[in-house]
Amino acid sequence: MPTDFPTSGIAINTRVRKLNFPPFVKDLYCGVFNKSVLSFAEVLNYGRHYNLEEKVRDIGNYIDGKKEVLAQTDGSGKLPPEVLHAFKQSGMFGLSVPTEYGGADFLSTEIARIFEVLGCEISLAEFMNYNEFLGGCQALMSRGTEEQKKKYLPQLTSGSMLGALCVAEEGAGSDPGSVAATAVKSEDEDFYLLNGTKTWVAGGADAGLFTVFAKMKMKNWLGEDDILDTAFLVERGFGGIEVSEPRRLAGLKGLDLVDVTFKDVKVPIDNVLGVEGQGLQVLASIVHQNKYMMAAGLVTHLRGLLDETITWCNERKQFGLHLREFTLVKHQIAQMAARLYCLESMIYLTSGLQDVSEVPDVEVESVLVKLYAAEASEFITKGCLNLLGLRAAMEESKYQRYLRDNQVVQSWQGTANILKCFVAVTGAIHLSEDQKDISKLRHPGTGMGGYLGYQWGARQHRSDSYPLTHKLNGCVHPRLIKAADQVEWSVLKLHWVAKELLIRNGANLQVEEKYLERLSDITMETFAQVCALSRASRSYVVGHLHAEHEVNLVIPYINESRLRVKENVWKCVNHDKDSGNRDEFWEATGDYILKRGNYCATHPLAKNSF
Ligand SMILES: Cc1cc2nc3c(=O)[nH]c(=O)nc-3n(C[C@H](O)[C@H](O)[C@H](O)COP(=O)(O)OP(=O)(O)OC[C@H]3O[C@@H](n4cnc5c(N)ncnc54)[C@H](O)[C@@H]3O)c2cc1C
Repeated sequence: MPTDFPTSGIAINTRVRKLNFPPFVKDLYCGVFNKSVLSFAEVLNYGRHYNLEEKVRDIGNYIDGKKEVLAQTDGSGKLPPEVLHAFKQSGMFGLSVPTEYGGADFLSTEIARIFEVLGCEISLAEFMNYNEFLGGCQALMSRGTEEQKKKYLPQLTSGSMLGALCVAEEGAGSDPGSVAATAVKSEDEDFYLLNGTKTWVAGGADAGLFTVFAKMKMKNWLGEDDILDTAFLVERGFGGIEVSEPRRLAGLKGLDLVDVTFKDVKVPIDNVLGVEGQGLQVLASIVHQNKYMMAAGLVTHLRGLLDETITWCNERKQFGLHLREFTLVKHQIAQMAARLYCLESMIYLTSGLQDVSEVPDVEVESVLVKLYAAEASEFITKGCLNLLGLRAAMEESKYQRYLRDNQVVQSWQGTANILKCFVAVTGAIHLSEDQKDISKLRHPGTGMGGYLGYQWGARQHRSDSYPLTHKLNGCVHPRLIKAADQVEWSVLKLHWVAKELLIRNGANLQVEEKYLERLSDITMETFAQVCALSRASRSYVVGHLHAEHEVNLVIPYINESRLRVKENVWKCVNHDKDSGNRDEFWEATGDYILKRGNYCATHPLAKNSF
């Protein structure tokens, strides 16, 4: 093997002790706060930590040496084959897969750290992340049979076969339930005949294994005829697969999107992934749990832009002063740094939760990180480009790429509207399952004591006199006591608002999209606050170099984040008051415009002709 190849090696085998760790954010909906989260994610012992840092250094050195070829990805739309080849040779595929299937068996925290290094070329980080978690390994690990794992995982983990996920179609984007691809079982029940065209398939041109979702006629659990989704493992070698010319994406170009057409492809009966008719469950088990990994590379990408902007502000002079001396510029730089700090904290707290749990349930945390990552990307990209001035707006400016990448990051791994609904609905379902007596609060006659108790608490929430019962301030460094109180305020409000919405809407909660969005925003802000608080407190306690700076970053961030929570809380609970009830106006106005088919306000200079 050439000496400049990076080597991921294999994880050292001192695994962390697994705990029976309940889902953290879902439990916030139930009013439960697991305080051990406030000691941040201490997952790696010293041995693993130094081992990881050594690997990260090796990979970083290798990537540094390939900077020039990697930079061509944005123009060519293809990652340099030599880099992918080197990664295959050195065990960079299958990082999360157990060694018995040829993987490296790394912890999620270690994988996130490795992807972070790859983020100096964002396409590379996202491509590797896609292959690890969406391209087949995770699907096989979570739903594959032992035979399927033995057959495909060694090929995927060696990189000799790349995987691709085939869900989206022209008519099926956000709604995977509407796919039109079909699978028909042969009469002898030996194989399925698969037909359909999948769009936006990342890495589809070179993939050897496609995880394809298609509709099948079958009997449902009631024994009735039904049409249900099923997932299939489809090898390129089965024949009948056509790949389109590359789709020219504006950003994250190395993902190399194509359309893939399956024409009468014979898929052996053993290649159903999971259970026939349960394709949507299979998809749900793949797509959310590791979504947050997309943010690891993004952190490096955004940090690069922020650092260049900071250099610019230190060099550029206007009005006889460096930009760094203007108060507004200081604010803007600090606020962008705070977003980055929160994003890093959220990634590693989520990976820590995933690593320490016996049966990890971080799907909500994971989606929250993706939502926060998209917002942070928007905030930092726009903020930096504004400070870089007009030169960043030139067509030939290298900074234009950040705008394009940011645009794709917004919908990569799910759009905000859909993910926000997922967060709020999942949290609300968890709450209603955990606290079955909520239904009694909808019908006060069935439990007057509980009803009155709840109303008393709600009254305290409305008048902002609800006591801070979790006492989070006792779990952080004394410098952060006030910030901890503000975090607890948000934590308590999240539980209360979720309960209020359930009581008010009952099972209809899922149709109230505007409320779901607000509840999700409250959840995201609250989780970001918890992660930043926990990390800053740990930094102070262990005496990190910039601990004072971190604390100073987190205090105003939490303060402002709480105000955003507050606004959304009032919009949810005061919906029937004059000040809160804007939704119906917006909905009716949007409806009017959409029915007209254009922006239709009369021109400001128009006169009536009579
Ligand atoms: C970089 C990249 C790589 C991808 N790779 C793959 C891949 O490998 N395999 C694959 O199968 N797919 C892939 N996709 C496709 C991806 O799954 C879809 O883009 C995504 O599901 C959204 O579909 P759409 O773009 O058609 O948007 P649409 O579903 O048409 O939605 C358009 C807009 O309407 C909003 N919207 C839709 N429904 C609702 C609703 N009920 N309420 C409120 N708002 C709503 C959406 O949020 C969105 O903003 C990739 C996408 C990107 C960006």
